[in-house]
This record gives sequence, structure tokens and C-alpha cells, in this order.
Amino acid sequence: KAKRRGNNNFEWFTQDINDKVERHVLMRHEIQEALKCKQFSLVYQPIFDQNQKICSVEALIRWNHPVQGVISPYEFITLAEHTGQIIPMGRWVIEQVCQDMLQLQAMDIPTVSVNLSPLQLSRNRFADDIKGLLAEYQIEARQIVLEVTENVLVSDLTNASSILNELHKQGFRIAIDDFGTGYSSLRYLQELPIDILKIDRSFVCDVGEGKKYEGITRAMLAVAQELQLQVVAEGVETEEQLTFLKTQDCEFYQGYLLALPMAIDDLARFCEQKMQA
Ligand code: C2E
Ligand code: MG
Ligand code: MG
Ligand code: MG
Repeated sequence: KAKRRGNNNFEWFTQDINDKVERHVLMRHEIQEALKCKQFSLVYQPIFDQNQKICSVEALIRWNHPVQGVISPYEFITLAEHTGQIIPMGRWVIEQVCQDMLQLQAMDIPTVSVNLSPLQLSRNRFADDIKGLLAEYQIEARQIVLEVTENVLVSDLTNASSILNELHKQGFRIAIDDFGTGYSSLRYLQELPIDILKIDRSFVCDVGEGKKYEGITRAMLAVAQELQLQVVAEGVETEEQLTFLKTQDCEFYQGYLLALPMAIDDLARFCEQKMQA
């Protein structure tokens, strides 16, 4: 096996690339298998309002690999985007959410967020596909929040804008995920049908009085308020962060401090325990 450190002559370098290519070819086959053999699953992370009530959940994909165990989406989403496998994978995610919706409603959870990759959104058939699934499971568009990152807008703003407008007209709610970390301009906040901003974890992890991102976070909340957008703070891990965000009138919170992402049965138990507490 080639090693990255030390010895960086040419042979090592090409060996490294070969390894990488091989790994990718292997992964691609494995993802194919995973789709066929149902190795993917969803976990749901609650999103809370200021009264600690669960007002929504975010669906997050997991790969239960037979040998490697649970693999994080950070490890396979990018590759699945390159190979196009994100298309069947993304469809599976939406269908699974549809199947889980009744159970979620029984927990008094009205909406579910789904992450979309730019490639999914760029396909002409996306709007029809998702409409078809919703009809099949008798689910209404307003029960689904579509999370897109700013990168979607950078690559093809005209196309993104027309599809997002169409989806929004159908009743879907649109969230900008990882807000503040992309390369797009603020102008899109005004131009696009956006309902929710999710402040990225990299800001939230360092908020509080006198902390590094105090000012930026205040400013993002002010922009959202001005444009009448809802705000979710992502990655809330400490009481200090939560307290600061509450005093700044941030409405919604998501993070390990409040709840981890959970399989749906664990989520049901979590909700029951909360009701009794
Ligand atoms: P994301 O959409 O920004 O999701 C939030 C990520 O932060 C999740 O990681 C979640 O588990 C993690 N997280 C939540 N609270 C905390 C916290 O307090 N501290 C820390 N350190 N992390 C926290 P996860 O599940 O590993 O997902 C990573 C990313 O993969 C997601 O980021 C999203 O971009 C992507 N992803 C996940 N599921 C899907 C999917 O079904 N489709 C697509 N296209 N992308 C997905
Ligand atoms: Mg997300
Ligand atoms: Mg995010
Ligand atoms: Mg993030």
C-alpha cells in the first residue's frame, strides 16, 4: 500500500492515485450492491422549538455495511454524486420518508426534512418523480422540507431557481442547509422561494458572548428576520450555545445537546419519554 507521508517521489504519487481509483471502483460496486441488498437506512434527528418541543425531524442516510459497519454519508455521498448513484439513492430516501410518515405523524411530528444533492435537483424529472411518490403514499408536499446547499445555486442558478419555484408552488418548503459556508451571494435569499435558513454548525460551535462568531451569527439572524425566514441553528452541542441563541431570538435548534439522530423506533420511544417527563 502506498503511504501519503514521507517519500513523495513520482512512483509513490502514481501508486497513490491508483489506490484511490481502485478504492473508488470498489466503492462504486459496493454502493450498487448496497442499493440492491437494502443496506441503507435512515435515522431522524429532531429539530426543537424554543419550548423544547419537537417541531420537525431531519432524515439522514446511513450505510450499514456488512463488513465495515455503519458508514457516514460524508464518506459516500460525494462519490455517489460523481457516479450518478445519488439518483436512485436519493429516490430511495424520499420513498423511505414517505413510508415512515404515518409513524412520524403518530408522534405528532408534522414535517420531515430531506437533503437533496445538486444532481438530483438538476434532473428535469425530479419534480415529477417526487410528485409521483407523494401521490402513491398520499403525502402532502407541505409535510416535506427540501434542504439544499448554496452550492446548488452556484452551479446553475437559473435552473435551480426555476425548479425550486415549481416545487415551492407545489407546497414543498425549501431550506438552505449549511448557510454561510458556500460561495453564493446574498442576493439569492431575495430571489429564491426560501422558507428556512439552517445556520451551519461551524458558526454555532463558537457562539456566545465574546466568542468568535457572536457577531456573524447575530447578523445572520437579523437578515433572516428582515426577510421573514425561519432559522434553524445546526450542531448545538452546549448549554452556552443554546442560551446565547435563545437570547438572540433564534427559533429552532438541532444538535447533539438536544437529541442525536435516531432510528425511527428509537425516535418513537424518545417522544414517549418526553411526553411523560
Ligand atoms: P447536514 O445535512 O448538514 O446534516 C447535519 C449533520 O450534522 C449530520 O451528519 C448530523 O448527524 C450532524 N450533527 C447533528 N448535530 C450535531 C452536533 O451537535 N454536532 C456535530 N458534530 N454534528 C452534528 P451526518 O448524518 O453524518 O450527515 C452528513 C451530511 O451528509 C449531511 O449534512 C448531508 O449534507 C449529507 N447527507 C445525509 N443524508 C443525506 C441524504 O439522504 N441525501 C443527501 N444528498 N445528502 C445527505
Ligand atoms: Mg441537512
Ligand atoms: Mg447542515
Ligand atoms: Mg452541515
